[in-house]
Amino acid sequence: MRNFEKSSKLDHVCYDIRGPVMDEANRMISQGMDILKLNIGNPAPFGFQAPQELLDRMNENLSSTEGYSDSKGLLSARQAIVKYSRKKGIEGVTEDDVYTGNGVSELITLSMQGLLNPGDEILVPSPDYPLWTASVTLAGGAAVHYMCDENAEWYPDVQDIKKKISDRTKGIVIINPNNPTGSLYPREILEEIVELARQNGLIIFADEIYDRLVLDGQEHVSIASLAPDLLTVTFNGLSKSHLIAGYRCGWMSLCGDKSFAKGYVEGINLLSSMRLCSNVPAQSVIGPALDMEEETKKLLVPGGRVYEQREYIHRALNDIPGITCVRPKAAFYVFPKINIKKFGIYDDEKFVLDFLKEKQILLTHGGGFHWERPDHFRIVYLPELKQLKTACDKLGDFLSGYRQA
Ligand code: PLP
Repeated sequence: MRNFEKSSKLDHVCYDIRGPVMDEANRMISQGMDILKLNIGNPAPFGFQAPQELLDRMNENLSSTEGYSDSKGLLSARQAIVKYSRKKGIEGVTEDDVYTGNGVSELITLSMQGLLNPGDEILVPSPDYPLWTASVTLAGGAAVHYMCDENAEWYPDVQDIKKKISDRTKGIVIINPNNPTGSLYPREILEEIVELARQNGLIIFADEIYDRLVLDGQEHVSIASLAPDLLTVTFNGLSKSHLIAGYRCGWMSLCGDKSFAKGYVEGINLLSSMRLCSNVPAQSVIGPALDMEEETKKLLVPGGRVYEQREYIHRALNDIPGITCVRPKAAFYVFPKINIKKFGIYDDEKFVLDFLKEKQILLTHGGGFHWERPDHFRIVYLPELKQLKTACDKLGDFLSGYRQA
C-alpha cells in the first residue's frame, strides 16, 4: 500500500490557523458553541464594511474583467501602484516591476520560491507573521529569527540582526507596521537595517500591508525609500486598509539594483506566469482604492473604531494583574506579555487552549509567531468595544484563578 503523508516540509510550518487550539475551536463550533474569534485579522465579520464606492466600482467592472489579465496584472492597476510607490518616496519602480497577487500571501510564497535553494537563509523577525517563516521553509530555505525588543517599542534589535547574518543569508524580512506587535518603526532603525543590508549584499523584503493603518498621526516610512541602491521587494494590498480581505488583492514591487539578480527576476516572472494571473475584478479597483484615503483615515482618529478599540484594549489589558502590553501604534493587533511566574505557565499553547475551553474565546499563543518563550499571546482587537470588554473581563476572571503548574 502506498502511504500518502503530507510533505515533511509542512512539519516546520507553524500557523496561527492550525494546531490543537484551532482543532478544539472547530470542535466547539461544530457543537453549536459561540466562539469569539480574536485570532485572525479579518475585518468583515466584525461589522467593518468596505467603502461603498469601491464595491460599486468593482461591480461596474465585472463584465470587463472576465478574462485573464497579463500575468503581472492589469496595466492600469500597475500604473496606480507605481504612482503610489512614488508617493511613498520609492524611486525607479516601473509597471514592469509590479506583480499583482491573490493577496500578499500568494506573493510572499512566490518571492521565496523564486529565490531559495537548500541551505539559503532568510532573516525573519521574532515574533513574525508566520507565513514568512512557512514560506521560507517551504521554499527549501531556513528562516533565521532575529529579535524584536519589547522594551524598545518592539523595534528590531539591530545588534541581533548583525549577529545572525552569515555567508548563507540572502535577505531580510521587515514587517512594518508589524503584525503581531502593532509596532511602527522609526526612520533611524530602518536606516540602520538598510546599512546592514548594504554591507552584506542582502535583498530587503518589506511587508508593508498595514502602511495605511497608522495611528496617532504618525508617518509610515517605506524602507525602499531609504535604499534606492538596494534590491528591495515591497509588499502591499487592500485586505486591511480597504477591508476587502476576501477579494484577495495584493501586490509586490521590485526596486533598486537588479543587475545581480537577473536569475531571480526570471524566476519570479516564471512563477507569476504559472499562476496565469491574480483575481482581475479585484485588480480593477486598486487605482480607485489608492486614491481613496479618507475612508481608512476615519477609522484611525479619535472617535474612529480602530482608534477607540486600540485605546480600550491597551488600557484594559494593562489593568489585568499579571498582564502588560506595549501600546500598539498601527494595524489592529496587540501582543501582551503574561507573567509566567505568577501563573506557573510553561506552555503558552496550553494557556490559550485552557482559556478557550473555559471562556469560549480564541486567542493565538506567542509560539504561533515563532516567539520562543511561553510569555506572550496575540489579540486581534477588531471586535466592537462591547465584545472587547467582555473578552477582557473574561480574561481577568480566568486568570484570577489560573495556575498551570
Ligand atoms: N502580511 C502580513 C503582515 C499580514 O498580517 C497579512 C495578513 O494578516 C498578510 C501579509 C496577508 O494578507 P493578504 O494575503 O490578505 O494580502
